[in-house]
Amino acid sequence: QVKMSRPVQARRLEGIDKNIWVEFVKLAATYSKVNLGQGFPDFPAPDFLQEAFTRALGGNHMLHQYTRAFGHPPLVKVLAQFFEKLLGRDLDPMTNVMVTVGAYQALFCCFQALVDEGDEVIIIEPFFDCYEPMVKMAGGTPVFVPLRPNPPKDGKLMSSADWQLDPAELASKFSERTKAIVLNSPNNPLGKVFSRGELGLIAELCVKHDVLCISDEVYEWLVYNGKQHIRIASLQGMWDRTVIIGSAGKTFSATGWKVGWAVGPDRLLQHLRTVHQNSVYHCATIAQEAVAQGFQRELMLYGKPDSYFVQLPKELQQKRDWLVQSLDAVGMKPIVPEGTYFLVADISQFKSDVPDVPNSDEPYDYRFAKWMVKNKGLAAIPLSAFYSEAHKNNYTNFIRFCFAKEEATLKAANDILQKWKQEKTSS
Ligand code: PMP
Repeated sequence: QVKMSRPVQARRLEGIDKNIWVEFVKLAATYSKVNLGQGFPDFPAPDFLQEAFTRALGGNHMLHQYTRAFGHPPLVKVLAQFFEKLLGRDLDPMTNVMVTVGAYQALFCCFQALVDEGDEVIIIEPFFDCYEPMVKMAGGTPVFVPLRPNPPKDGKLMSSADWQLDPAELASKFSERTKAIVLNSPNNPLGKVFSRGELGLIAELCVKHDVLCISDEVYEWLVYNGKQHIRIASLQGMWDRTVIIGSAGKTFSATGWKVGWAVGPDRLLQHLRTVHQNSVYHCATIAQEAVAQGFQRELMLYGKPDSYFVQLPKELQQKRDWLVQSLDAVGMKPIVPEGTYFLVADISQFKSDVPDVPNSDEPYDYRFAKWMVKNKGLAAIPLSAFYSEAHKNNYTNFIRFCFAKEEATLKAANDILQKWKQEKTSS
């Protein structure tokens, strides 16, 4: 082994080396018969999108070369048109939109561009796990505020809407050190779609304390039961301080394409462009071209029954309802999500199934998820992975499932659960 007198690892990587996905993706690959763990569809991307990609592949040979660094012109143009409609304001495709390698890179650009050493960034728990290491890598300090569950008293199933911010607690996290808040609505993992009232409260605090909002809206089209996704950038005083982040992967069920975007005022986006031009610089041209064509189609069909953005949530709502029923039938209490393709279920009634591991400080939800994939072949993700170290021990009775799956996959999951239930009742 090579001996070096100096540490190899940069200080900014301290404490951020663990990643839930590395471990659980491997477990799922090794043991799972049905994988409802990681969040991506196992059904095909829509035909019109696949056809657009094929056309781009065999068409103009320049689509095999670099395109404009901050976004392929047809894509930024159609995104600007689309968001003009959604936000009710004029947008300049060249300065108000930037294309990124998935929403992931848009997030990374935000933190690198906007967060300084010593800045605090408020993160609402549970949260998409990359926010925390990304804030830390930028030298910032994450400040966590949890959504608090209020179980309904009438014995009904809990909904993601029953998880709410405590307004006083949220307000107490804002100070002169606060640079930004990360909002993720619809929220991964809970599926919570923040209400106008909740967004209004966050907006008011942002304006009062001159705080930026990094608004991760990758699940913007996945809302159920006629619920409306409200964009915080459309609230009073928020456009100038918000970066909206989106993902073609989620929007068009093509997560492997890794096309994402940031939309916002030039005063913020100009700094994201600096990070982008000094790191990734270009994103795959063909994928951008195909996504542009997908958006052109959706712009034409906007709000019509044939629109993918209308059809996809309809199909997913049915899948959500199947999974809710399957889980409820075996006693894993589902928290019915208002949006996203995730569902969190309460596993507190299964403690006797999972053998105790002596001298282990591994939380119950981790032990449960590992035991379930090894013994039942069903993969899911422990919810405490979506919490900060300080708070995760309060939320170890839940696991997260993804229901963006083929009917056959969900049926197979149901079979596993039914068999499990029979074994439980006969033992
Ligand atoms: N934000 C959230 C909330 C997500 O769930 C994901 C993907 N799981 C991303 C961002 C990253 O999206 P992309 O695949 O486009 O990078």
